[in-house]
Amino acid sequence: MNSKPDVIVIGAGIAGLAAASRLGQGGLSVLLLEARERIGGRIWTQMDSSAGHAIEFGAEFIHGFPPEIWQPLQEAGEKPEEVEGDSWCVDDRLCPCKFFDQIDGILQKMNDRKPDESFLEFLNRTVPPSSDPKKESVRRHALGYVSGFNAADPALVGVHWLVKGMRAEELIDGQRAFRSGKGYEDLLAIFHKRVLESGVQVRSQMVVETIDWSAANASVTANSNEGAFKATAPCVIVTLPLAVLKAPAGSLGAVRFIPALPPEKYAAIERLEMGKVIRVVFQFRQKFWATLSPMERKTLGRMSFLFSQDEWFPTWWTAMPSEAPIITGWAPFESAERLSGQSRSFVIERGLRSLSELLGISFEEIEALLVEAFFHDWQADPFSRGAYSYGKVNADGAQERLAKPVQNTLFFAGEATDTAGHNGTVHGAIATGYRAAEEILRGRN
Ligand SMILES: Cc1cc2nc3c(=O)[nH]c(=O)nc-3n(C[C@H](O)[C@H](O)[C@H](O)COP(=O)(O)OP(=O)(O)OC[C@H]3O[C@@H](n4cnc5c(N)ncnc54)[C@H](O)[C@@H]3O)c2cc1C
Repeated sequence: MNSKPDVIVIGAGIAGLAAASRLGQGGLSVLLLEARERIGGRIWTQMDSSAGHAIEFGAEFIHGFPPEIWQPLQEAGEKPEEVEGDSWCVDDRLCPCKFFDQIDGILQKMNDRKPDESFLEFLNRTVPPSSDPKKESVRRHALGYVSGFNAADPALVGVHWLVKGMRAEELIDGQRAFRSGKGYEDLLAIFHKRVLESGVQVRSQMVVETIDWSAANASVTANSNEGAFKATAPCVIVTLPLAVLKAPAGSLGAVRFIPALPPEKYAAIERLEMGKVIRVVFQFRQKFWATLSPMERKTLGRMSFLFSQDEWFPTWWTAMPSEAPIITGWAPFESAERLSGQSRSFVIERGLRSLSELLGISFEEIEALLVEAFFHDWQADPFSRGAYSYGKVNADGAQERLAKPVQNTLFFAGEATDTAGHNGTVHGAIATGYRAAEEILRGRN
C-alpha cells in the first residue's frame, strides 16, 4: 500500500466492501476505514452452534433476484433457499391471513403522478377512519404493513418513495424471499475475500472524525485504539449510514466535513429519514408451535409469518423451510422507539410476553422453553443510529442529490444513496458501492 492511497473508503459495510473491491480490481490502491472491530455493518450473522442455524442481527432476507447478490452467491456455489410456509394473523383470534389482497388493492391506488403526500394522508383519503370494525382492521393492517416493512413512520413516509420502491421490487420479483445457507455471512465472506484479494488495506476500529477536503485532496482523521490516525488521498468514498450523516457534531461516529458539504447535500439528507427496528431472535428447545392447533386439523407447524397488532412485537417469523426451533420478533417504528435504550432483559421479556399472548400459551411455559435470545439495538448503536432509510414526502430526487459527487473528491455510497428504488436493502447498498467506484474509475480514464 502506498503511503498515500488513491482512494479512502469510509465504512466497511457491504457498500464500502463493494466499492473497495471494485476499485482494487481496477488497479487503484485503497484504504478502507471501519469504526467497528468487525466488517459488515448492518449485516451481522452469528452461527448458532447448537441449532446449527444462522442468527441474524441485521439483514436476513434476500428480496427477490437482485443480481448484486445472486451472482456472487451462485459463483461461490451457494444455493439460497426460498422462504415458504403459511402466514397466520391475529385479529380477534389466530387464523390464516386473509388481508393481503385488500392491502395490495390499497397500495396499488398510490399514485406518483399526483403531488406527493404521506402514506397516512393517502390512507385517510382512501380508507377513512371508520366505526366499521372491518374497515378499521384493513386500515390497521395497511398501516402495520407499511411501517413494518419499511420501518417507517406512516405520517412521514412519502407515497412517491413507496411507489418507486414497489416498482423496483416488481422488477426483481421482490415479494419472494430467500436465505443463503449460512445467512448473509455467505455474502459477506465473498466480499471480504474480494477486498483482500484486490489488495485493499482494511483498518478496523478507526472511527473517522473529520474529512478536510479541497478539490482532488482529502485528509481524513480517525480515532483509533492506538491514538490519532491521519491519511490523505485524492478522493474519498463516504458510505456512512444516513443517521450517522445526520448525527450531531461531536457525537460518537459523527464526521465533520471541513469545509461543510454544499447546502443541497444537507437539504437532501433532510428529506430522508432513518427507519427504526428492534428485532429479537429466540432459540427454543423445540419447535413447540408445531403442536399448537388454533384451528381444527391445522397446526402452526408450517407457520412462516405471524402478523398482529401487538403494540410491542407485531410481526414474527420462523426459520421455515428450516425446522430449526427459531423464531424472530420484529418491532418497527413506534414499537422500536419504545424498546430502544431499554435493558436486554426488558426487551427479551417483552418479546416473550408478546409471543406467549399471540400463540395463547403461558409466559412461564414459553420462558422455560427458551435456550437463548439474541438482539442488537441498532438505534442506540452510534455507527448506525437506526435500521435503514426511507424517503419522506417530497423526497423525489433526494437520493440522487445525496449520491452526487462533490468536486470529484467526495463520493457517496450506502443504501440511502440508492436511486433505483432499493433503499434499505443489501442489494441496493451493493449497487451504490459499485456506482461510486465506477464514478472514480471513469474519472481517471
Ligand atoms: C434489523 C435490520 C434488518 C434488515 N433486514 C434486511 C433484509 O432482510 N434484507 C435486506 O436486503 N436488507 C435488510 N436490512 C438493511 C441492510 O442491512 C442495509 O441496507 C445494508 O446492510 C446497508 O449497507 P451499507 O453499507 O449501506 O451500510 P452499513 O452496513 O451500515 O455500513 C456502514 C459502515 O460505516 C461504519 N461507520 C459508521 N460511522 C463510522 C465512522 N465515523 N468511521 C468509520 N466507519 C463508520 C459502520 O460501522 C458500518 O460498518 C436490514 C437492516 C437492519 C438494521
